[in-house]
Amino acid sequence: MPPGKLRGVKFAAVLLPLLCALCVQPAGAVVVNGHDYRPLTGWAMENKFREVNDGRSDRFTLTNGAAQRLVFEKNSVTAEINGVKVALSFPVALDKSGVFFIARFDLIKTVEPLIFSPPVSPKKITTICLDPGHGGKDPGKQVGGHDEKTYTLLLAEELRRQLVAAGFKVVQTRRKDNYLELSERASFANRNKADLFVCLHFNATEVAKNEVAGLQTYCITPVGASSTEAAGRGAGHSMCAGNRVEAKSLLAAYQVHRALVKNLGANDRSVRRARFEVLCETTMPAVYIEGGYMTNPVEAKKIYDALYRKQMAAAIVRGILNYQKSTAPSALPKKQKP
Ligand SMILES: [Zn+2]
Repeated sequence: MPPGKLRGVKFAAVLLPLLCALCVQPAGAVVVNGHDYRPLTGWAMENKFREVNDGRSDRFTLTNGAAQRLVFEKNSVTAEINGVKVALSFPVALDKSGVFFIARFDLIKTVEPLIFSPPVSPKKITTICLDPGHGGKDPGKQVGGHDEKTYTLLLAEELRRQLVAAGFKVVQTRRKDNYLELSERASFANRNKADLFVCLHFNATEVAKNEVAGLQTYCITPVGASSTEAAGRGAGHSMCAGNRVEAKSLLAAYQVHRALVKNLGANDRSVRRARFEVLCETTMPAVYIEGGYMTNPVEAKKIYDALYRKQMAAAIVRGILNYQKSTAPSALPKKQKP
């Protein structure tokens, strides 16, 4: 190749991406409360999704050839992704002409990582760190003579048995009723070079005790967004170790949550985002399960039942296996190039 031509190729290779970064602005993009939003119709077209008319004007439903189904609701910060509720960082907007808009941030940080192949090559899960919440002087939630710390440990021991039977190596932050600082739990997982961190908790509420039931699964909040429940739980926007693997943590939380909700028939209280210390300080993909409400009489009875915990552990194992499968190369459709 003559030197002049080579220079031209080099010039184009350097300049074109720069120009594209400046000029590519998706059609119909708008700014809502300081955040970039784009019409869901444009995104759908680009990624080979089509609209499904479900007769609801406040909802926008999409499907594609791979039978994936996405449901977005006006003003809602929860989307439904293939039958599972997932928290968004910003509400879906509907303009006066009936066009639905979604924050670009949510497309990049939540929707796309769950429906397209992850951009990084997967690492096989060998070691799983289980973290039964609370312990020792910290009983966790206390309801009618039952301590949360007792049931998180019982669930962890059951889960340990099932994971070992499935071929995983399991390490555990505590195997008896002892107290551990949150930072000790994270550093234990890091020290043991775990490939996945699974934190186990149960929930309680003072409001509408008989009505509130179900499961919620947390993963790290992306930088630049508030946590799903921001109050008092590290609402800062700064980067932490957990953010380096946030796409994988989201996928792990999604698969574990999906398996729990589907297999237990439990109420889906969504995959949520939080900057809990253990999610921030662990360097591997990490999920934090709130496995039901001890304040709900029906759910509490199940939590205290060994057979139900066995089913719960089996669902978590299935979710972990699905997570492993979904990170395998070409398990999911690739994102379309705009
Ligand atoms: Zn707890």
